[in-house]
This record gives sequence, C-alpha cells and structure tokens, in this order.
Amino acid sequence: MTLRLKIVENTVFKQKPVSSSNLSAEDKHSIPRGTELELHSWDRLEEEKFYIRVSLAKENFQGKNTWYAFIPHVQVIPSIVKEVQCCSTAIVKGLDRQIIAEMNRIVPGILVSFDDLNVNLGSAVWPYLQPPAKRALERAIASAGDKMTITSAYRTIAQQQILYNHYKNRRCNIALAATPSRSNHQSGLALDTPYPTFWGRHLSQYGWRWLGPGDPVHFDYKGSGRRDIRSLSVRAFQRLWNKHNLNDKIAEDGAYGGQTARRLNNSPVEGFGIAIGEFRVLRLSQPYMQGEDVRKVQSALAKTGLSIEVDGFYGPGTVATVKQFQEQKGLTADGIVGPATLEKLAF
Ligand SMILES: [Zn+2]
Repeated sequence: MTLRLKIVENTVFKQKPVSSSNLSAEDKHSIPRGTELELHSWDRLEEEKFYIRVSLAKENFQGKNTWYAFIPHVQVIPSIVKEVQCCSTAIVKGLDRQIIAEMNRIVPGILVSFDDLNVNLGSAVWPYLQPPAKRALERAIASAGDKMTITSAYRTIAQQQILYNHYKNRRCNIALAATPSRSNHQSGLALDTPYPTFWGRHLSQYGWRWLGPGDPVHFDYKGSGRRDIRSLSVRAFQRLWNKHNLNDKIAEDGAYGGQTARRLNNSPVEGFGIAIGEFRVLRLSQPYMQGEDVRKVQSALAKTGLSIEVDGFYGPGTVATVKQFQEQKGLTADGIVGPATLEKLAF
C-alpha cells in the first residue's frame, strides 16, 4: 500500500511551476498519460494554484526525484485515511467493509443492508440500518408508493474521519462535521434524502423524525428497538486495528480519543490485508497442514526471492524455506510460522 500519482493526461513534469517554454530541456520531462508513479510525498504551496510538488519514491528523471506536476493532469491516489483529499468518501470502501463486518461480528445482525428496498442510492452510500429502522423505512416507502432517493445512510467511523478532516482543513465546502463517533449517521439510524418535504410525510408516520431546517435533508429513526451503537463502531475499528497491528495495540474501549484518531488516520483506505488472527500457527504435521493461509505464507516467501513451491501444503520443502527466512531475519529458525514470522513477512 503506497501513495501513488496517476497521470491522467499527457503532461510535463517541471523543476519550476512555470510555462514549459521558459524551462531548459533538463528542467522538464514528458510523461505519458496512464503512467503511475509511487510517491514518497507531495505538497502544494499556499500561493500555488496549478501545480503540486511531488517527490518520487523510485523514479529519477534527469537525475532529479522532485518535480512540479500540473494539477489537472494528475491524480494523487491516497493510501491512508489522512491523505484523502477528494470529496467523495467512496474511496474508503475497502476499510468500511471491514469495519461493518467487524461490527456485525461483535453484535450479530446489528446492521442490515436495505438495498433490497425500493431505493435509489448514490455511489458513496452505504445502505445499512439497524433492523427496526429498516422495517420502518420499508413501511414508509410502501405507503408512499414511490422510489426513494437516499444520499447518505450509514457512515463508518472512517468516512466520518475523512469528512472531519475535510472540515478541519476547510475542504469540500463542509460547514460542520461531527467528531468521528458523534455523528447520527454512525448509529445506523439516520438517512438523508434530497426530497424531505415529500418523504417527511411518510417517514414521520413510522417513527422517523425530520431533524429540522438546520439540516433539512436529514431524518433520524426514533422508534422502538433502536440502540445507540456509536461506541460499537469505534470498538469495531479498534479491534480491527489490533488484529492487524500486533505491535501497536490500543485499548478496545469504544472511546474515540487521540490514540484512536491517530490509528484511524493511518489506516489503509483499501482495508487491511489478511489479519494475523486469521492465520493458524503453521508447523509440520501429519497429514500436512493445508489451506489458504499456507498458500499466502508461501507466496509471501516467494516474493522475498526464496525458492518455494506455492501449493498450499505445509510440507518439508516449505519448512526448509521458512527456516531459511527466519535465519535471515534473526528469528529462531524453528520452521514454525507464528506471529513473529508473519510480522516479518509483512502481513
Ligand atoms: Zn444527515
């Protein structure tokens, strides 16, 4: 998972943010559309409207790895939550999916999808509600006899963090954003519709309440059977983080503070890789251990350049390669793959 720059139009990288006719040949470099470059970092000078400065992680052009790139020609593809600058929260769907799954693991069935109802959903909408709120919505839609457009429903703590970051950095015209964990949208009891006058009449008969003119598109479910699950969403993230970061565990207390905010901001937008907790401890046994976790360990070993057959069986050949790898990394070379070895394999 790395920060990348995608070239969306044929462009010229420059040593100074000026017209290329004012630059000598060694101070500019043409890059074709479709190129993707790994970035070490990027920034944008306060007074500079048209260029960002990028520092390339691997490539060198004309012996230089820092260049100005024309903003309309490039796209920075973020790797972690705090790098997200685009206004759509759809970018974080991979991580969202894991957070929602974790919530349902802690409290089975607490969030259910309502995409089976008669609804129109925007691309960034997560169609999740608590079951009683979904049932009430279903009745309201039936009584209206119309398809309902919904622009926001469930918001994960990761989405809320992005909105909050935008608000703090005055991006995306966000006038106000609740602190992650405080938003009603994190409860699975809220939705936004661009036609509140029409829908308000139907929703209000089934336990949904219009928030009012301060946020005219917003409705909350206030009927029976609802639960406040905002701290659950924080705990789900904390558990997820801990499963994937054995050396940096945080309290699973459901409270959103600086510790949690920092980890959330450093979480990959595409979601974490396979969790260490989802691996068995692998050792030589009869019959050989077999499965997807074995296969993943084998391909990770192959990527380090060691010779190994990726067949999904934990046999003597694999054990020998594991021992070699452990030796290289200064671990006890016992041929047993536990958390320490997995960690070194970068899971
Ligand atoms: Zn809302």
